[in-house]
Amino acid sequence: AAAHSNKVTIGLIPADGIGREVIPAARQVLESLPKAASTPRFEFIDLDAGFEHFQKHGVALPDETLARLRGECQGALFGAVSSPSHKVAGYSSPIVALRKHLDLYANVRPVASVAGSGQKQLDMLIIRENTECLYIKQERIETDANGQKVAWADRKISEFASRRAGLMAFNMALMRDKLRSNIPASERLWQGKPKVTIVHKSNVLSVTDGLWRETVRSVKEQNLDRFGGVDMDEQLVDSMVYRMFREPEAFDVVVAPNLYGDIISDGAAALVGSLGLVPSANVGDNFVVGEPVHGSAPDIAGQQKANPIAAIRSAGLLLEHMGYSAEAANIYQAVDGVLREGQIKTPDLGGKSTTQEVTDAICKRL
Ligand code: ATP
Ligand code: MG
Repeated sequence: AAAHSNKVTIGLIPADGIGREVIPAARQVLESLPKAASTPRFEFIDLDAGFEHFQKHGVALPDETLARLRGECQGALFGAVSSPSHKVAGYSSPIVALRKHLDLYANVRPVASVAGSGQKQLDMLIIRENTECLYIKQERIETDANGQKVAWADRKISEFASRRAGLMAFNMALMRDKLRSNIPASERLWQGKPKVTIVHKSNVLSVTDGLWRETVRSVKEQNLDRFGGVDMDEQLVDSMVYRMFREPEAFDVVVAPNLYGDIISDGAAALVGSLGLVPSANVGDNFVVGEPVHGSAPDIAGQQKANPIAAIRSAGLLLEHMGYSAEAANIYQAVDGVLREGQIKTPDLGGKSTTQEVTDAICKRL
């Protein structure tokens, strides 16, 4: 976490579709934060990227965007990109490029229900390793002796990537513990010591998942001075899914290799309702990009129907990662308050309110 300074510069990259509606909403919420002694002064820089930008200018992630993020910003918020349904020559996703250029090696997704909302209660954070596993895309096809095709894929698990994902998990467990101290005890879903659950399948994949498991375990064992107060357990990926649906309240921080993390985090999002509620952050050692989990939603773009909460919570995550946990807690509580009240909500939650009305209600609570 960065030292508290007075000014924080945030790059805003709305990109496509409803990104243009939900990123301004997140900005309005940041600007409406009550000014405590620790609260920074925000400066915002509007930056271009996206598929529409590619169609107009032939480039999806302009050099200027990357240079200004690196040179002037402490963090960023990214809206969403439209993914063309067919392959378009010369186009590749700007958020994937950003992750690579800024070495944002972990994707962090908190999935939490709203206390007192009558939903199944959960408050978990999934950390997905974001650089390797089967996603290295080393695939090939061969023909066997009978002339039939055989497809192969390599899976990479390195000590380096596993260790930094593990470190992120234990550090996040401590950060969440600190964040909870800003939330009234009655609204805290997780009451115990912070906990990290390691997901793997090392009973079958003893070499790759074995290395993952050993390396993540060693992060605690080698740093007992820092992480001695964090509980550690593990879960085979199949039983992880089963337990997550039956007993989601049993999890605090969950850390998983890329593919398992991808699957588990979509499953977890299903436990809390709309895509329009779930935030994420792409995190590296030097930079964070908050990003709602949803896409550009072309079916509702430009109609003030988009739920801004995923983007607003992503702004909270961004603040958490920059060391402003009290401000992040303020945002989460204001959002939860509006959701609990249940009067002002967008159509995805069964309401009739506009993006702007939901944003204003959250700002008013702040
Ligand atoms: P993309 O190509 O950008 O991924 P998509 O068509 O896959 O676009 P998603 O954004 O992934 O669209 O959304 C899937 C569905 O969820 C759509 O029907 C969309 O309207 C809805 N949805 C997504 N985000 C929101 C939101 N913030 N508020 C309300 N509805 C949403
Ligand atoms: Mg999509």
